[in-house]
Amino acid sequence: SIQAVASPFRSYLNDLHEKYQSLNEGTVADYIPELALADPNWFGICAVTVEGQVFEVGNCKQLFTIQSISKAFVYGLALEDHGREYVNSKVSVEPTGEAFNSIVLDEKTNRPYNPMVNAGAIATADLIKGNGGTERLKRLLDMFQRYTGREHDINVPVFLSEKATGHRNRAIAYLMRNFGMISEQIDETLDLYFQQCSMMVNGRDLAMMAATLANGGMNPITQERAIDERYVQDVISVMLTCGMYDYSGEWTYRVGMPAKSGVGGGITAVVPGKLGIGTFSPPLDVKGNSVRGIKVCENLSRDFGLHLFNAA
Ligand code: GLU
Repeated sequence: SIQAVASPFRSYLNDLHEKYQSLNEGTVADYIPELALADPNWFGICAVTVEGQVFEVGNCKQLFTIQSISKAFVYGLALEDHGREYVNSKVSVEPTGEAFNSIVLDEKTNRPYNPMVNAGAIATADLIKGNGGTERLKRLLDMFQRYTGREHDINVPVFLSEKATGHRNRAIAYLMRNFGMISEQIDETLDLYFQQCSMMVNGRDLAMMAATLANGGMNPITQERAIDERYVQDVISVMLTCGMYDYSGEWTYRVGMPAKSGVGGGITAVVPGKLGIGTFSPPLDVKGNSVRGIKVCENLSRDFGLHLFNAA
């Protein structure tokens, strides 16, 4: 176990960090000016075991916006709010070969394909209960605090930019409204979606969130429950099949960890029953995943036999 090899594991992570710090591939997201400000050299690796041991290397305190990583966790809250059957009637769980922001719904049922593409994430945000936008946002922020053990803020300039430029997301929302798949609170739900994407986290938070899922929904440090145990399986199943954009199949083949990435450069990866991994490095590959983050997870999976289907 990782516990038994704590100090070799620490130096292993240091070596991994040093090895990939010099990998200068990929480009920082620049669809809004705020994201383009990220330093391409930022690189953090954090791992948290289900026993609550924390390993950190590099820029694990640097804040960045969670972006699409939020989608997996908001899906968990929607399941808690409405149960599996109702949520599934609004959002399917089928991977799609389409881009994350495609304007495509299932032809027969009009459902978005899964909660990790924007359509599905907006339909999921629509399901979050609360009396008005402020209360719904507070419920999201409280949930993230249970996962990380820390209070989270919205990056207001990012939120305003996402909102100002988010015409495609608005189009998706109105299309879903046309089919009766989301409520009439369209603008409130879109704001909630833009806000959830603009929440600030660091690499350690992402590892803590993954470790909480790895630990059946209980934060391994605070021992606070972040999500009902019965929905952890649903959340990490969708992460496994749809979490890494159009690289999800290859990711599952090569790395074999339920994970979610975001355009801010973060990846959260779950090793059920064992470990949560958080990586942060802004340069992205053509699929939209952090170049250094992918390398780190590939190495960890191979070197410690962490692939979900590893039978060795
Ligand atoms: N805020 C982004 C959008 O809705 C999410 C980007 C991402 O992390 O995939 O387009």
